Parts: sequence; structure tokens; C-alpha cells
Amino acid sequence: MIEIFKRFTFEAAHQLSDYPEIHGHSYSVEVRCTGPAADGYVIREEIFSAAVDAVRQQLDHRMLNPIIEVPTSENIAVWIWDQLAAELPLSEVRVWRESVGFGAIYRGVRS
Ligand SMILES: [Zn+2]
Repeated sequence: MIEIFKRFTFEAAHQLSDYPEIHGHSYSVEVRCTGPAADGYVIREEIFSAAVDAVRQQLDHRMLNPIIEVPTSENIAVWIWDQLAAELPLSEVRVWRESVGFGAIYRGVRS
């Protein structure tokens, strides 16, 4: 099995009960997929990039609260996973803020 990844960044605003002021962050995201790469690819790069880009467009320069209930890094990671799980062989989604060195990793629903 081989794991591949795609990284992107987005800027977004949110409001949390413990930080009630609306404020913005620069988020970094890494989406990982795992597969056998039988034909040399886990998934074609164009397909991977297009799927990830569609998710990025839903988040970039947006207010996150109407999109994601309680938009913490943890919940953003879960939300991104849920958007992509049907079309990609996901293994992990990471969301972090480079400025503070804090992030979350989601590896899907445990059976
Ligand atoms: Zn914040």
C-alpha cells in the first residue's frame, strides 16, 4: 500500500463560544489517500486535485459557522473527510494553523 497526499491552504473566519469575537485564520490542510497503486497510481493526480479543490472552494474566504457547526480544527477535519469520503480512498485528513502550530488529525469512523 502507498499513501499519497495533497496539501492546500485556505483563509476563513469563525466564531466559537470560548472566543465569541468573529476572527479569521489561515488554515493548512493535508488530505491523504491510501491504496495499492497497482497501475502506478493510488489515484490520478488530476482526480485527487479536482476533488480537493472543490472542497477548498467551499471554505476559502468564508464564514465557517453556517457550513460547519462549531468550526474547530477537529470539526473542520471531520467535515472535509465527509465531503471526500465517497470519491477518494481516504486515510487521513489533517487541519492545522501554521501560525500557532496547532492542528487536528482525523482518520475516519472507527468500526
Ligand atoms: Zn479561531
